[in-house]
Amino acid sequence: MTIKIWKFFDREELYECYQCARCTGSCPAMEVTAALGPRGTILKCLNLGHEAVVQDEKVWFCCTCNVCDDRCPQQIPISDLLVALRNSAARRGNVPGRLLLSLELLAKTGRTMIVHQLDEMRAHHGLAPLPPAPVDEVRAILKRAGLEEVLDF
Ligand code: SF4
Ligand code: SF4
Repeated sequence: MTIKIWKFFDREELYECYQCARCTGSCPAMEVTAALGPRGTILKCLNLGHEAVVQDEKVWFCCTCNVCDDRCPQQIPISDLLVALRNSAARRGNVPGRLLLSLELLAKTGRTMIVHQLDEMRAHHGLAPLPPAPVDEVRAILKRAGLEEVLDF
């Protein structure tokens, strides 16, 4: 399934970026990773097209803290763009291995953790086992997000 990112995000807003780098100067992901950063992401989208960003594993380095939104003098919703890019990346199969494992577990069990481990922890604290997870509803959401083929369920 291919969904163009610009269906969800107004590309015209990106042209309002004047590359001041105020966003990038406040980005925590830039401090600890080789992330593209918010300014670099916008520039790459405009210069090379969003497909170039979607194929890049660095699109996953953003922790969605939204600081870039708060710092941008042009009020560009950068974190929304990054979320849309990651959604697009996921639909194309560009998902980091550890995250993919969690997603596969989510599709299979409705949870991102193995339940018997959770139940053991809960029992240790005198709590009842968790009720069954709504697997069908979770799968419907994942399907609607276009992840059915990626997760093969
Ligand atoms: S703070 Fe806003 S205008 Fe400045 S580089 Fe970042 S996105 Fe562009
Ligand atoms: S939302 Fe992402 S890109 Fe923006 S400041 Fe936070 S980590 Fe950096």
